[in-house]
Amino acid sequence: MRCEKCSGKGKVKSTYTNRRYCDRHFMEMISRRIRKDLRISQKINIKKEYAIAKTTDHETRIAMHFLSEIFGGRLKVSNTAKDNVIRPRSLDKETNDFLEEFLENKESRSLPVNPLRVVLEEEIREISGILGINYAENKDKNSITEAIDSKYPGTKFSLMKSMEEIKTKKQK
Ligand SMILES: [Zn+2]
Repeated sequence: MRCEKCSGKGKVKSTYTNRRYCDRHFMEMISRRIRKDLRISQKINIKKEYAIAKTTDHETRIAMHFLSEIFGGRLKVSNTAKDNVIRPRSLDKETNDFLEEFLENKESRSLPVNPLRVVLEEEIREISGILGINYAENKDKNSITEAIDSKYPGTKFSLMKSMEEIKTKKQK
């Protein structure tokens, strides 16, 4: 199987686009998806300073990789800033937490910026391999969304869009 974009080997299959990619084009596809979400929906502003917890977990390292690629080092990220918190988590985790809060009728926290919210857990695992980052299996299996998504594939992405709408309404 060939890569969607070049004659290279298409060893990574994306369940989102249902296509195969070589490492380079897989990373490009993810990078574009993150950039679009950060700029259009999450409205990252390079004039602001952002805060990220200083950890070595794979999600933080992957988020930093894409942030520096997308903003070319122009985005100010420190671990001392008080506002504009960045909390990188996969789409699976983000939608699952949202659903749990929604079902338990908890007041939704103001959600931090999440560069990885458009990236599936399985894609995070793939990216970890490509970047040589140790991937720590997520012990919490995101039960609710897994159950729904296995029955209705693509649910996670639709959930993300609904979350966006609900949050926007709350802010008005
Ligand atoms: Zn390719």
